[in-house]
Amino acid sequence: REEYCSRIEEAIGQIAFEGKFIGYKPYGNGHINDTFVVNFQQEDGSDRRYILQRMNHDTFKNPAGLMENISGVTEFLKKKIEENNGDSSRETLNIVRTKDGKDYFKDSIGSYWRSYVFIEDAVCFDKVESPEDFYNSATAFGNFQYLLSDYPAETLHETIPDFHNTPARFENFKKAVEADIKGRRAEVEAEIAFVMERDAFMYTLMDAYKEGSLPLRVTHNDTKLNNVMIDNQSGKGICVIDLDTVMPGFSVNDFGDSIRFGASTGDEDEPDLSKVNFSLELFDIYTKGFLEGCKGRLTEKEIYLFPTGAKMMTLECGMRFLTDYLQGDTYFRIHRETHNLDRCRTQFKLVSDMEKNWDAMKTVVDKYR
Ligand code: ATP
Ligand code: MG
Ligand code: MG
Repeated sequence: REEYCSRIEEAIGQIAFEGKFIGYKPYGNGHINDTFVVNFQQEDGSDRRYILQRMNHDTFKNPAGLMENISGVTEFLKKKIEENNGDSSRETLNIVRTKDGKDYFKDSIGSYWRSYVFIEDAVCFDKVESPEDFYNSATAFGNFQYLLSDYPAETLHETIPDFHNTPARFENFKKAVEADIKGRRAEVEAEIAFVMERDAFMYTLMDAYKEGSLPLRVTHNDTKLNNVMIDNQSGKGICVIDLDTVMPGFSVNDFGDSIRFGASTGDEDEPDLSKVNFSLELFDIYTKGFLEGCKGRLTEKEIYLFPTGAKMMTLECGMRFLTDYLQGDTYFRIHRETHNLDRCRTQFKLVSDMEKNWDAMKTVVDKYR
């Protein structure tokens, strides 16, 4: 612990903060990186805060590439926001560089650190309390697509290779079923069949991309509520944060992952499936907000594929939980023996609900397109 504190201080010493160092403390509810708030006193006596993060080097194998992504995207966002007369100091993350001008610092034991300007007078919500919250996150993630629609997505590094390559995830799943290293296969034949019945569906987005009818976009890949800062004054989503998983991808997958997580009436690991239902009302609200945020920058085809994105992300996620269950729970952290199986079942319940609501989902999308 002492060792850790001296690494924090080493990092603080290397980053080009303004003012006199006052102190630091752990901050926020992030699960991936170690996040701290650092205080500096300014010459006029006022206080300035910064976010300092020790990056998760286990999850992200290429921290330099990851920071190149964030640097490229945030510089681009800054220009766009200024062109639109916005406040680029609050509406995007702003990297605080090291004293020698780099976007991260590697300490003496090989940990990677980075810093951002603290976005004041705004908060993150961990749970959707009202449909309004969900709507606000939708407009923010839609606006993120709007602002980055002419960014050269193919120049970004894949910070987690094949993250939403559903056909590749499907191959891994089939291998896990075949290998059955934990002898759990017999117990989950129904879930395996559920996946196999949707075999052809897995390829829909990748095939559309290969045909040239689905564009590669800058995607966020962690489009949950608490990765949007909500302005205390206006109550609107002002800034999309947590850009570690920014990668080339499909806009409909960002859309779809929000639906997967946010348009369910139950928790992701709820064992009682009667509590887990797809909410068409929340799907409607998110669709409306996301399209408003995108301001016409998505193609007809992308909008048409919104329901497909929602189902794809939910099916893929359920399949990943099932894969992990078959492989002995080595990827997702579990708190009970069937945790991954419970998670898999909620996702498949939502997929079934979406299939039943398919026409209604299409009607919602048509209403706002
Ligand atoms: P996750 O579990 O969502 O992946 P993470 O570990 O990647 O989280 P972040 O989401 O980057 O961490 O940051 C953790 C929390 O710190 C955020 O939820 C937010 O409350 C706060 N935070 C991050 N960046 C800023 C910022 N620039 N200004 C103010 N608060 C911030
Ligand atoms: Mg986060
Ligand atoms: Mg994160």
